[in-house]
Order: sequence, then structure tokens, then C-alpha cells
Amino acid sequence: MALFVYKFGGTSVGTVERIKSVAEKISLARKNGDDIVVVVSAMSGETNRLTAMAKEMQAQPTDREMDVLLSTGEQVSMSLLCMALHEMGHDACSYTGGQVRILTDSSHTKARIQEIDDHRLRDDLDAGKVVVVAGFQGVDEHGNITTLGRGGSDTTAVALAAALNADECHIYTDVDGVYTTDPRVEPRARRLEKITFEEMLEMASLGSKVLQIRSVEFAGKYNVALRVLSSFSEGQGTLITYEDSAVEKALISGIAFNRDEAKLTITGVPDLPGVASKILGPIADQNIEVDMIIQNIADDDTTDFTFTVHRNDYQRAKVLLDQVCGEMDAKQVTGDDAIVKVSIVGVGMRSHAGIASTMFKTLAEEGINIRMISTSEIKISVVVDEKYLELAVRSLHKAFDLESK
Ligand code: ADP
Ligand code: ASP
Ligand code: MG
Repeated sequence: MALFVYKFGGTSVGTVERIKSVAEKISLARKNGDDIVVVVSAMSGETNRLTAMAKEMQAQPTDREMDVLLSTGEQVSMSLLCMALHEMGHDACSYTGGQVRILTDSSHTKARIQEIDDHRLRDDLDAGKVVVVAGFQGVDEHGNITTLGRGGSDTTAVALAAALNADECHIYTDVDGVYTTDPRVEPRARRLEKITFEEMLEMASLGSKVLQIRSVEFAGKYNVALRVLSSFSEGQGTLITYEDSAVEKALISGIAFNRDEAKLTITGVPDLPGVASKILGPIADQNIEVDMIIQNIADDDTTDFTFTVHRNDYQRAKVLLDQVCGEMDAKQVTGDDAIVKVSIVGVGMRSHAGIASTMFKTLAEEGINIRMISTSEIKISVVVDEKYLELAVRSLHKAFDLESK
């Protein structure tokens, strides 16, 4: 007998009918004799709907109240799923994150799990029940409801699998695994049998939202066997593993992209010590995350400084930078919020030269101008104009021979 944690995403519980199908899947596993803990997301669109309602009440609702509101979406799915299971003759019980006692820090809307009390869950499992837990939420030490950030139900599932020492954690979603790139952008994308934690972590942090970054971090840290599969079809899905992706013998495992990017440039900055901190200090003070940074030196002892931020932070960052520009006697501030980041990822890159030049040549042949570049051991990212996203992804997918075999 094995213990599995199954997580079902928004689309998988998107309608009453789909919730019934989820119950059937669980019923089948129970008949095989397996113990099942289920984590559910809110029904698809629900978190967005709640967010939109909040914005109608107040331009900037407090994070605490946002968490109270958003956590309700998952509560609807968990109770409906239990009812469907009861109807099928199974004993099942649902819990919010707070009821389990998934203890988090107090960073509302992006809380981190600190500790999980597994007593209640274990008692229920011992009593032969299916346990259903609301994803994406927890409670802080003061009893406030917290949420774990968009896509956070993945992290709830992996954290529960770690706490319960489950045999496997299954992330059921609307694709049948992790693909070489988002199949919505490149229909010829290929499902990977396996991908390493390291690569999956890069893919997730570079924009592949199939798994929340923290869920991959958690799985890597606590050695959780993690698999991404389809809710709607049978199959092995994709296993996230420690094994080297030499399994797949590819230089590049996948292409990730992020549409939520914007860039800002301040030109004619006097080239003196402390410049970077003067420019980025005020940005950091406002909790705006900066991703890529480029500084280039002109002949006249001034520098141009460019960096990227999340598109939602663009306007705020621009106002701050305009102030800095005045204070530093720099020339001007320009910006662009119609840019995207496209990245190629693969552990195979470590041992092979020439990957970057293939990437740049491919983009050049398509007439795509590269605006920024950043590299690490297992990834190369470029910033390009938003309108080139699909073309860039598809041409790179072809150039690195990632297409269906
Ligand atoms: P869920 O609601 O089940 O959590 P998500 O929408 O969060 O589902 O994640 C699944 C989606 O991730 C897919 O529909 C797909 O468009 C997208 N995606 C992005 N990159 C990839 C990739 N490399 N492989 C598979 N899916 C990807
Ligand atoms: N419902 C939350 C969201 O839409 C959490 C999740 O689905 O993982 O982001
Ligand atoms: Mg998701």
C-alpha cells in the first residue's frame, strides 16, 4: 500500500462535472488500496474573479484581506470534492490550510511554509479516510490566514508529501507533463519523460508556470518524488528527478519565457563609485525586484544603466528612476514594457560550447533584435520585443532539435 499526494489544478476542478471525474480518479486509487491526500486549487478563473472584485472595492486592498478573500476559492473546491467522494461511498474529510495547521510566515500573499502539523491527516488516513486539503494557503503564528502566491497549491502538495513522507506527489493539470516548451506557444513541443530538479527549477523561475518555483525547491530539498500528469488522460507524465538529464541526451532540455517583463534605462549617469547602489537602492527599498542588469560605459565618462522589473512594477519603478535621474544629474530615463524574456535551459550546456552562438544566430536569422542577454551555467536568457515571442520560441525550438521525435 502506498501513500500518494494528488494535486488538482484549477482547470481540473473547473466544473462540477470535472470535480466528479477527480473523485472517480481518487476512487480508483482507493480501490487499489492506496492512501490518498488530495490538494485542490480554486475552480479555474476563481482566484482572478475574486481579485477583480477586490479591486472594485479598493485600489490597493491590504494583503491581509486579500488573503482572507483568495483563500475562499480553494475552500469551495475542497468541500465539493468531498461531497462527490461521499456520494461514491468514500469516507473523506476536507481541511483548510489553517485547520491542518500549515504554519507559514506572515508575508501575506507570498507566505512561506514553515511547519506542517500532520497529526490530523495521519489520524484520518489511519481511519481509512481520503483527506482533502485546500491548496495555496496556511496560517501564521497569530492565526491570520495567509496565501502562498499564485500557483501556490503546487507547493502545498509538495510540502504535504514531504511532511507525510509520501511515496509520490502527483501534480494533475491540463497538460500531460512538462514539455520542451509551453505547448500553447509551440504545438510541436515534446513531453519530457524526466527532467532534473535543477532544470525544472530554472524553467519555473524563468517563466514556465507549470509548477510553482517553490514547489520544485521543496521537492528538491526534501527529496519528494514529483510527477506532473494530465487530469484528463492516462499516462506516465513527467518525473522530476535527481538524475542527470543525460537520460534524454539533450544539450537543451527546454525553452522558458516570461511575458511579465519591462525594462528601464537611465542614460548619461556620471561614472563614479556607488552609482549602481544609488540607482537601485530606492527601487529595492520599495520592494521592487530587479532581474537583469546591464551597465555600459560611454567615452565621456558616463554610463548607461539598464535593468528589468516585473511589468506590474514598471510605472512605480519609472517614477523612482525619474527622481534618481534628477538627483544624479543624469541625462534621461527611458523604458519599455512591451518586452519578454526567452530562455534556453539545459544541464547539457555545461559541457558544450557554442550553444550561445547557435541561439544568437537563430534569432538573427529571424530578424529578431536581442535587447539584453544574461547567462548562467545552465541557461541563456535574452530579452526581445514582445511581438517576437512566438517566433523566438519556435525558431529556437527547431534550432535545438527539440521537436517531436
Ligand atoms: P493548474 O491550474 O493545473 O495549476 P497551470 O495553468 O498552473 O495549471 O499550469 C499548466 C500550464 O502550464 C499548461 O496549460 C501550459 O500552458 C503551461 N506551461 C508553461 N510551460 C510549460 C511546459 N514547459 N510544459 C508544460 N506546460 C507548460
Ligand atoms: N488558486 C491559486 C491561483 O490561481 C493557487 C493555485 O491554483 O495553485 O494561483
Ligand atoms: Mg498552477
